[in-house]
Amino acid sequence: MATVTVPANTSVFLLDIEGTTTPITFVKDILFPYIREHLEEYLSDHWEEDECKQDVHLLKKQSEEDLRQHRACPVACASQSGQTDEEKAIREVVEGVLWQMAADRKTTALKQLQGHMWRAAYATGRIQGEVYPDVVPAIRAWRQRGMKIYIYSSGSVEAQKLLFGYSIEGDLLDLFDGHFDTNVGAKVESQSYVRIAERIGVQPQDIMFLTDVTREAKAAEEAGLSVAVVMRPGNMELTDEERSHYTTVTSFGQIA
Ligand SMILES: [Mg+2]
Repeated sequence: MATVTVPANTSVFLLDIEGTTTPITFVKDILFPYIREHLEEYLSDHWEEDECKQDVHLLKKQSEEDLRQHRACPVACASQSGQTDEEKAIREVVEGVLWQMAADRKTTALKQLQGHMWRAAYATGRIQGEVYPDVVPAIRAWRQRGMKIYIYSSGSVEAQKLLFGYSIEGDLLDLFDGHFDTNVGAKVESQSYVRIAERIGVQPQDIMFLTDVTREAKAAEEAGLSVAVVMRPGNMELTDEERSHYTTVTSFGQIA
């Protein structure tokens, strides 16, 4: 395992999550199935709570909007005998949410409910954030040498904090100096990396960005950051050209 030389001026590591600190399958195989499998139970348990009522209200408004725009919507559930009004109402919400998820909708209503369900699942230990075993030791070593560590992920800052706050290795939030999400801009736009450098208060050249996605690496490089592409099991394969252009690592341990 060859060691990668970090440019001497580097004072900040900026880390992607999916495919970099965390298996790319975590979201697809753990987080989203959790919603599908526990939706009805969650709604039943929290139905009378204000937060859940607001989530349901927002989902209903979304359904109405979808109907107006003639998007297909499957809320016509046959009521079953012996079903209470509440059970029927919950069933309708479940059908609507499953439909939105199957259609890969990214509505605020859907995201808000998912966020609340994940928060509860992490807090009760039903979900734990995955991190590769080389990640924490490497970050600790970097920090000992005075490096600052930031996260930049398309998942919301709140979702990032849940993943690392309730990880398989415990609460890791102390390892990070800050978090960025797409509020600072898209990860494939170089301007986002310029903004991140400004927010941190360093020059772009002082930051080393680690990601699995070469389009993100390219944008960061254009902004002046140094970049290493992280190759993990299940990540997109790099082309030969990309392999020769980018510094690549298979473990954070290579970045010494
Ligand atoms: Mg990634």
